[in-house]
Amino acid sequence: MLKHGNLEYEIIIGCEIHCQLLTKTKAFCSCENRYGGIPNTRVCPSCLGLPGALPRVSKEYVEFGIKAGCALGCRINNFSKFDRKHYFYPDLVKGYQITQFYTPLCEEGEVEINLAAQNEEPKFKKVRIERIHLEEDVGKSLHIEGSHSYIDFNRSGVPLIEIVSKPDMSTPDEAARYMQTIREILKFVGVTDGNMEEGALRCDANINLKIIDNGVEFRTPISEIKNMNSFKAVKDACTYEVSRQLEEYTSENRIAFKSGFKRTMGWDEPSGQTVIQRTKTIAEDYRFMPEPDLRALELSDEFIKRVSDSVGELPEAKRLRFKKEYHLSEFDVQTLTSERELAEWFEEAAKKSSSPKKCANWILAEVLAVLNETNSSLSDLKFGPCAIAELVNVIEEGKITSKQAKDVFAEMIALGKKPSAIIAEKGMEQVSDSSFIEKIVEEVFAENTEAVQDWKNGKTNVAGWLMGQVMKKSGGKANPKQAAELVNKRLAQ
Ligand code: ZN
Ligand code: MN
Repeated sequence: MLKHGNLEYEIIIGCEIHCQLLTKTKAFCSCENRYGGIPNTRVCPSCLGLPGALPRVSKEYVEFGIKAGCALGCRINNFSKFDRKHYFYPDLVKGYQITQFYTPLCEEGEVEINLAAQNEEPKFKKVRIERIHLEEDVGKSLHIEGSHSYIDFNRSGVPLIEIVSKPDMSTPDEAARYMQTIREILKFVGVTDGNMEEGALRCDANINLKIIDNGVEFRTPISEIKNMNSFKAVKDACTYEVSRQLEEYTSENRIAFKSGFKRTMGWDEPSGQTVIQRTKTIAEDYRFMPEPDLRALELSDEFIKRVSDSVGELPEAKRLRFKKEYHLSEFDVQTLTSERELAEWFEEAAKKSSSPKKCANWILAEVLAVLNETNSSLSDLKFGPCAIAELVNVIEEGKITSKQAKDVFAEMIALGKKPSAIIAEKGMEQVSDSSFIEKIVEEVFAENTEAVQDWKNGKTNVAGWLMGQVMKKSGGKANPKQAAELVNKRLAQ
């Protein structure tokens, strides 16, 4: 229980997340599904809602919906169907949206959200998912202030899933982390690009308070904050709304609340306030009715199984496994599993290397730094994960020093050559031939009798200096470990 003056209260938040899917076509027609482009160029009679045009369900759309449902721990229903949700808005061409109101594709899921600070050991909280249903996106309005509005129908009919959570979140931070987790998982399994700036993931938060006032329980009316497309917006809007609802409760306004009173709000980022858009005392009547132009989805167990088998390992499971199998820290695994491509790249290197931990270090420190600097991705690199494994292996075997390895790495980045080829070309390979090193040690000792005398008089740091001379004389090629051994052996004589 939180405290506000003499009041005790709890925050109750549930989220509805709309997520655009990365299918090749739109949900119910064969128009290309892609963000942006010249307005109204990816449209057809169906997604423009012209009379007589019929919708058809894309198979890939259903598959992506199943994948998302599996990834979020849902039961996939063999039977689901489509409905029409009617309302009036200029960007809704048909006057209704095709959705799954009565029978959704997925139900009863759950996700674990991590409430720990970054790089700390995870602290999980379970958030239940009530349902995930398929529905189409609407067109996009563009308002030119003070003059007129445009509508772009390229987005009309873009496949969405709507993920409805139970009201299981009890702080604004939990709501933001929930959205973050959903995004991470769905990106990881490849059903969305999760690009929030382009609106691929939008969150509506339903928030109210349970207040205990002198032993009497009271619930504030629910505010639905619509269409937030950043974690920060979710956190800030919910934080603001908590204090607004508390303030409203302590003022006299609450007397006006009738049961069923609900507000639809927007988050105004510049002013940092929630803004009331609509208030309703009865649920809006969307006149839901079955979509007569689409058959129900009747999915066989085999089909559902085949699709769910293709989901692959989820990020949290991967993190646990990486920690155990490769002995990596929480920090390492968090970064390595932030993207599926990176996680797989690392694992390929780790499997071919004698030291997975060193592979992780090289990837996290060197490879990611280069990608950051050049603003490129793993697939742009001229070499693959095996090359990193090879590089780590030659360092481990003592063939080159870690200083030389940096030069080899620079060549790999520039030319994409294999480490072994670069080492041979540059004559970097260390010499472990003891007679060769012994000869140099002899020479160095002969040339530096004074230094040797100093060592005998107790200046122990001279040993390191002599070792440096040996390395220098060998042109950096002597195996440093062996050289040190031979220097010490010679001194002990
Ligand atoms: Zn179309
Ligand atoms: Mn919706």
